[in-house]
Amino acid sequence: MRKDFTPEPLKVFKDLDGISLKLIENHYKLYEGYVKKTNEIQMKLENVDKAEANPSFSLVGELKRQETFTVNGMKLHEVYFGHLGGDGKPSGELVQMIEKDFATLQDWKLDMVATGIAARGWAVLAFDYRDSRLHNYGSDGHNVGAVWGAVPVIVLDVYEHAYAMDYGVDRKSYIETFFKNLDWHFANRIVNYYELNKRHAA
Ligand code: FE
Repeated sequence: MRKDFTPEPLKVFKDLDGISLKLIENHYKLYEGYVKKTNEIQMKLENVDKAEANPSFSLVGELKRQETFTVNGMKLHEVYFGHLGGDGKPSGELVQMIEKDFATLQDWKLDMVATGIAARGWAVLAFDYRDSRLHNYGSDGHNVGAVWGAVPVIVLDVYEHAYAMDYGVDRKSYIETFFKNLDWHFANRIVNYYELNKRHAA
C-alpha cells in the first residue's frame, strides 16, 4: 500500500555564518517539490497502463525514470538540510570511522572538497555495505551516480541553487562554509540509526 511522504521541517530560522536564510528558504522549496512530485509519481504509477511499457517511450517508463530522480532528490536533501546549521565541530563515532578509512579528518575533507568541486550535483560521504567502510561518492544528478546499498551520512549539495545567490560561481568558498555549519550530531545520529559503527570493517 502506498504511503505519502511528508517534508521534514526546516530547522534553520536565521542567517548562518556564510549562508543566508533567504537562500536556504528558497532551496528548501525545491526539496518540498521533490517530496510532492515523489507522491504524485507514486500515485500515478498505481493506475498507469503497464501494458504500454516500451523502451523508447511510455508513460510507465517516464514515471519510473523520474521516480528515481525525485526519490533521491528528496532523500539527499533530507540529509543536507538535516545537518545544516551546526557548529562545524567534528564529534562522535563518525570521526573515528573517518580517520580509519581516510587516515585523517583533513585527508577526508580534502577528498570531499575535491569530490564536491568535480561533481555536478552531489558529494556524498556514504557507508557502503559492500566493503563496510566509508566512501566519498560524487554524483552528477539525483539519479546519476547513486550507489546502491550505501547509506548517505554527510551530503554536500553542489548544484548552483545551493550557493549562487550568496556566492555567485565561487563554489569553493561555499564548500568551506558548508563545513563550518555542519552539524556532526545529526550525521552521528545516522550512524547510530543504521548501526554503521557495528558493521564498520575491523
Ligand atoms: Fe539542492
